[in-house]
Amino acid sequence: MTNTVSPYANDNIFAKILRGEIPCHKIYEDDDVLAFMDVMPQGTGHSLVIPKQGSRNLLDADTQVLGKLIAATQKIAIAAKKAFDADGITIMQFNETAAGQTVFHLHFHIIPRFDGIELGGHTGKMEDQEVLSANCKKIVASL
Ligand code: AMP
Repeated sequence: MTNTVSPYANDNIFAKILRGEIPCHKIYEDDDVLAFMDVMPQGTGHSLVIPKQGSRNLLDADTQVLGKLIAATQKIAIAAKKAFDADGITIMQFNETAAGQTVFHLHFHIIPRFDGIELGGHTGKMEDQEVLSANCKKIVASL
């Protein structure tokens, strides 16, 4: 147990996506944020929104960056709800391993929800690239 905040490390997988070192199914990008499909979705159309400025999670994030990130999260959430005609949207965000965080670059999860359908497991099964691509296009078309 520790009260110290671990430093940001730019070798995490989302930093690599930001640098273009590994691909993603991109939904939206501007000067401050990037949104893309989660490769192990917990539900149809599960996406992630990340800031371009590196922070480990919410706890060490710049408040101005947070403002832009939550605004982008709202934008993608509205588009995803429309794209999949969802009944609701779950927004999730984890801080440190004990809380379920597995990638240490701040991100919000955006998950369309449907009445009677439970949330899938966290970091479960890798989705087919064709499904991710099709769902990405649906959200982009609803932006
Ligand atoms: P967390 O556990 O909150 O840190 O969430 C990390 C999320 O990133 C999980 O939902 C993973 O499925 C997702 N993920 C891991 N690697 C990738 C990747 N290369 N592209 C897109 N999503 C990823």
